[in-house]
Parts: sequence; structure tokens; C-alpha cells
Amino acid sequence: MTEANTQPEVNIGLVGHVDHGKTTLVQALSGSWTDQHSEEMKRGISIRLGYADATFRRCPGVDEPECYTVDEECEDGSESEPIRTVSFVDAPGHETLMATMLSGASIMDGAVLVVSATEDVPQAQTEEHLMALDLIGIENIVIAQNKVDLVGRDRAVDNYEQIQEFVEGTVAEDAPIVPVSAQQEVNLDLLIDAIESEIPTPDRDPGESARMYAARSFDINRPGATAEDLKGGVVGGSLVSGELSVGDGLEIRPGREVDEEGQTEWRPLETTVRSLQAGNRDVDTAHPGGLLGVGTGLDPSLTKGDALAGQVAGEPGTLPPTREEFEMEVDLLERVVGKEDDESGESDIEEISTGEPLMLTVGTATTVGAVTSARDGECEVSLKRPVCAEEGAQIAINRRVGARWRLIGVGTLT
Ligand code: GDP
Ligand code: MG
Repeated sequence: MTEANTQPEVNIGLVGHVDHGKTTLVQALSGSWTDQHSEEMKRGISIRLGYADATFRRCPGVDEPECYTVDEECEDGSESEPIRTVSFVDAPGHETLMATMLSGASIMDGAVLVVSATEDVPQAQTEEHLMALDLIGIENIVIAQNKVDLVGRDRAVDNYEQIQEFVEGTVAEDAPIVPVSAQQEVNLDLLIDAIESEIPTPDRDPGESARMYAARSFDINRPGATAEDLKGGVVGGSLVSGELSVGDGLEIRPGREVDEEGQTEWRPLETTVRSLQAGNRDVDTAHPGGLLGVGTGLDPSLTKGDALAGQVAGEPGTLPPTREEFEMEVDLLERVVGKEDDESGESDIEEISTGEPLMLTVGTATTVGAVTSARDGECEVSLKRPVCAEEGAQIAINRRVGARWRLIGVGTLT
């Protein structure tokens, strides 16, 4: 495989209820890759949204779907051929906050919905995550019916039918349902086959200007590093369009908050790309797909502790405006989804009202906004932290219901 195609070219989200086997499945598919470069950088960027790259391979002379594997060696001892490298975005363990899932959704090209065969369908987050995929418009979906090793044939069939019934009328209606055991590595070939046909690499135009959504940012220097050893700040995230090369100029918005004579304002940051890490290796040019680590010339104190998470980076002068308030058209769900039976709070979703706080996810940014005016199907919000977003951007709208922020609808920035 040439170096270029070891860079992942598509992002696939792993969604579904806690403990249904998302992380186990990612591990089974991505195996253990060895990594020679910048351990700190990799460790740092893969924590919050767990990215893991997997290269799908094919055993020559074997029929589909049995030919598909992630192992380099085939059963007959021959070497498998790489087909495509994908990046899995695994929502964190006991994450109950929809926002993290949704900020992942803004960089997902497709999703694998993991549903355990050992429980009735749907469990709370199975429903909630599917609803989010629907709202955000992620249509390329494969359903993994996991843990089939733990149930008998009848139970597996019942559960399969429950899944079919549950997805009827949703964006996942036509998604293939593949029975697997992530832990016993059963039917992974069928799953790869389904992913290969349902989640293609999107067509991308390398001539478009580079646009990156930052999911993380950090300082990779060890405490007490001397000035001459000091490395510039690192930004981790996903490129959604264009290409980025070492040496390119980079603007980051909203940037940083500066305080001048009691007035605070947000100023974009400008720097250059000093190093790039994609597919766990250093590269000169990065393409959309997978997780990207960008070494910059920024003072590391500016990138420390995810300070730039949720911001947008790209070619200077091409980024959307920074907004401290905006207006959006609102599409509300009919009822709160994914609520456990024992949770309190109303299930019906009432209209948004002036003065109420909302949690908004825009790209990879999550910010709290106060509603300054609300009319039928429209509202204006004033943000605690500004976002960089263009007209038409999709916004996930969350309201506090009971003890949690709940997804109540989707907005379109006008
Ligand atoms: P996540 O919360 O969706 O990421 O779930 P995990 O991947 O952490 O899995 C939860 C538990 O289920 C772990 O103890 C796994 O070992 C177990 N598990 C996952 N997949 C399977 C499977 O296919 N079969 C069995 N028997 N156990 C599984
Ligand atoms: Mg997990």
C-alpha cells in the first residue's frame, strides 16, 4: 500500500446504547496497529472522541464476502491486499451527553449502529442516537446486531425482527442488519462487506479551501521544557474539505478572547502549519477523513486544555464569520427521545420560549445560548461563547429536561 492510501478517507461513527459493544467492535476491526511517531500527539487527540483507523483488506482468490478481513495474513497463508482505510469515531464510554455524540456527527460520513441481541429493542440511546443521525442527515448506515454469541437462535431471530420494526420509517429503514459477535470476531467479513457497499468515500474536491473542525487542542510539551525545546500548540480534528499541507497559512476562529480596557472581544488566530499527522503517521499533505493532528506555530498556552476545541481552522480569509448571536429556523421533535422509564420530566416538547437556556451544537462547537426572542419556528439566541459558522449550518438544539440536556430539535442558521 502506498503511503497516501494509508490515510483514512472516510469517517464512520459508532453509535448505540452503552455496553452494546461499540468499543469492542472498533478494537476487533482496527486490531493493534503499531505507531512510530509522536506518541504524545496521538494519545492526546484520540481521547475524547475516540478515533481508531482500520484498513479493510481482501484475500485474493476468495469469494465475497469471505474475502474481507482486517488481518494481513489470509487463512491459506497468503498476504491480503488493502482496499480502503477508514476511521472509526467511537463515542466515549458512559457518555450521556448528546453533545459529544453530535459533535462527532458533524464529522461522520456514515455510521454503524450497534444493537445488542441480548436486550429488547430499542434501549434509550439506541433510539436517541438513531434520531440524531436522522436529524443531522447521516443516511449511510449499517446496523451491527452484536453479541449473537450470547443468545440462542430463536432469541437472535426475535431480536432481529425487533430491530427491523424499530427502524421502519427512519433513516435506517434500508440499512443492512448484520449479526456479529465483536468479542468472538464472528461475521466481521459480512460487516466489512456491508460497510464497503453502504458507506462509500464521499466525492471530495481537493481544490476547495481547507476547512477543519477542531475537536481537541493541547500542549504537547513536558512540564519544564526549555524555551528552545518548546513545541508549538497542537490542534486535533477533522478536515471536512480541501487539503492542508505543511507550510500552509492557517486561520483559527473564533480564536481567542482578548480583554482591552474592560472590553472583551474575540480575535482570530493566525499561524502556519508546521507538521501534520494523519493515519498515525507524519505526512506532508492531509486529506479529509480520519483524525488530523496539526502542529502549529501558536504559543502552546493558547491550545492547552482543549482551549480551541469547537473552533474552525482553514486558509486565512476563507472562514465563516464569528457569531456571538444568531437567528435560526427551528424544527422541533414531537417528544423527548431516549428517556429511561424512571426519569422524571415531561415527554412532550413545548415550543422554545424567550429567556430559556439552550445548549447548541454547531459543527464541533458546543455552546450555551439564551433565547432572546422566539416566534413560530424561529428563534434568536445570544451565545456565552461565540461560534464560527456559516448560513445554512445545522445546529442541534438541546434543552434541560429533568437532570439532563436532551435533544429537542434541529436548527438551521439563517
Ligand atoms: P460500548 O459501551 O458500546 O463501547 O460497549 P463495550 O465495547 O465496552 O462492551 C461492553 C461489554 O460487552 C464488554 O464487557 C465487552 O467485552 C462485552 N461485549 C462486547 N461485544 C461482545 C460480544 O460480541 N459478545 C460478548 N459475549 N460480549 C461482548
Ligand atoms: Mg465504548
